[in-house]
Amino acid sequence: MRKIVGKRIYDTSNSRIIISLDNGFPLSDERHICWAIYLTPSERWFLYIHAGSLTKLSEIQQNKSVGTESIDILTKNEILPYFKDSERMDLIKKFFPKSYNNIRNKERKKRKREKHKKLFRELIAGEILLYNNNFYCPICNNIFREISYFRTVFRANKIIWLANMVTHTRHNHIKYWDKWWSDFSVDIDKYTEREKNYQIEKNRVNERAKRHIIRNCSDFLIKQKFTVDDFMKLQHTDFHTMELATQKLNPQHNEKKN
Ligand SMILES: [Zn+2]
Repeated sequence: MRKIVGKRIYDTSNSRIIISLDNGFPLSDERHICWAIYLTPSERWFLYIHAGSLTKLSEIQQNKSVGTESIDILTKNEILPYFKDSERMDLIKKFFPKSYNNIRNKERKKRKREKHKKLFRELIAGEILLYNNNFYCPICNNIFREISYFRTVFRANKIIWLANMVTHTRHNHIKYWDKWWSDFSVDIDKYTEREKNYQIEKNRVNERAKRHIIRNCSDFLIKQKFTVDDFMKLQHTDFHTMELATQKLNPQHNEKKN
């Protein structure tokens, strides 16, 4: 079949079939329908449809049902859905490499988003402790931005989580701390008297925070297999904290007591 549109010739006899589909009936059968996407020698696209007289696409001419043939010129955007629906990514890659890369990138992003969602759910469920600079606080049951500094000090995720929890607890679960010191930052090399007090007070409140965590999240800590040693790895952990950790996290200690 041949069609001329705007001085351009679209001809099935000299164009390449790139993709085609039929309903299974042979061409000689009046129930036959087929469609095909063609590429002309001058790289233009068209859709060719052929339908027998006993198909829905048939026409009535002089009270008689007749088969039809048609050619529709397609733009690139109109062809892409045909290729996508036919799951012919190879054709998209071959003829529209830019679109192919875009589709692949979108898929990659989607997979990444889904992975993030899954990990986020695990984070909330307490199955993992840290993810993508976020950590979960079992006291307020929320996700928080991790303090990147701790990654330079500690290597194990467990200890990084614990250090984040101490700071988070100091700011969020021990009320008076932020009231007194929220405007205060320290230059470690130039300690003034107030800075020294801040440091002493901070260490003291950190210990309170650790004990607050042990008291309020002991189930979570046991489930995550935290031990007294993990608390030892944090800076300045004192005797009272160690004693409480031994009491709450060490099942053997509890058994003896019971
Ligand atoms: Zn919290």
